[in-house]
Amino acid sequence: RAKATRRGSHVIFESAIRQELENRLTLESELALAVERGEFELFYQPQVRLIDGGLVGAEALIRWRHPVRGYVSPGEFMPVVNTSALSERIANWVMETACRQARAWELSGNNVRVAINLSPSQLQSGDLAHSVAALLDATGLTPSLLEIEVTEDILLHDERRVLAMFKRIQELGVRVLFDDFGTGYASLSYLKKFPLDGLKIDRSFVFGLLANSDDAAIVGSTIGLSKQLGLTVVAEGIEDEATADFLVSMGCEEGQGYFFGRPMPAEAFDRQFLAAGHKAASAA
Ligand code: C2E
Ligand code: MG
Ligand code: MG
Ligand code: MG
Repeated sequence: RAKATRRGSHVIFESAIRQELENRLTLESELALAVERGEFELFYQPQVRLIDGGLVGAEALIRWRHPVRGYVSPGEFMPVVNTSALSERIANWVMETACRQARAWELSGNNVRVAINLSPSQLQSGDLAHSVAALLDATGLTPSLLEIEVTEDILLHDERRVLAMFKRIQELGVRVLFDDFGTGYASLSYLKKFPLDGLKIDRSFVFGLLANSDDAAIVGSTIGLSKQLGLTVVAEGIEDEATADFLVSMGCEEGQGYFFGRPMPAEAFDRQFLAAGHKAASAA
């Protein structure tokens, strides 16, 4: 009896794995089709100067406009993309689309810094600094209007190679920020070693800021540390005015969150933030 049960659960386990594999393969082929059909879009979320709410930039965030399911958020498909053969193609599409948009805004007289999220595959293949340089060249975008967000887990890659790569990217004039700071593998010593322009405080610390004194302590000391090191600090996930005010009182310069604006298509961003008379503050 015990044996039968064990064999039974073994079968269930196996079919669960098979199901998962099938799901992944289905998603992968759907994603490949999505690339062909141009179903990906970039949304842009405003980043503001907290002291006066002035627009300084936008984070480009990928969306998949699924023919049946509607907009699918990156959490649902980027993990698969990042471990598939499509990774590089999609990463290049993101980088190119964001640069073109930033250049269009620049040409219309708005210096909106556009931040892109780096994919892990972009560190493995080829020369990222070289493709960034080529893209700046092709679009004519002012380098300081491009920002690259990297999560701390890039430090799991060959450290010397990564350091050299980011140094070259910064020499182009492109800014590099640590994303989701405080949630990953980085130790404080990396802040010294890694050429960095700024930190983004993860929204898991910002969310409970007003209610949780531990979160407040972590955010407060991250802001202090950033300032001491001459880094820009951006708080993400600001959902209400009280949190924004508290961040200002702690000396945080920039922020992003639903309180200021959700990620939205470029045209909506134009209308809401760049309509005549609402020129972006010079971020360059
Ligand atoms: P992230 O880079 O930390 O992006 C911020 C995420 O927080 C976005 O989710 C954004 O919509 C969300 N967010 C912003 N403000 C608020 C707020 O006030 N409250 C709450 N609850 N959430 C807020 P999204 O767009 O679903 O992206 C999730 C993650 O997917 C991103 O985290 C990023 O790691 C990844 N991702 C998004 N677009 C790309 C991309 O083009 N390439 C790569 N490689 N990764 C991407
Ligand atoms: Mg990001
Ligand atoms: Mg982030
Ligand atoms: Mg985050």
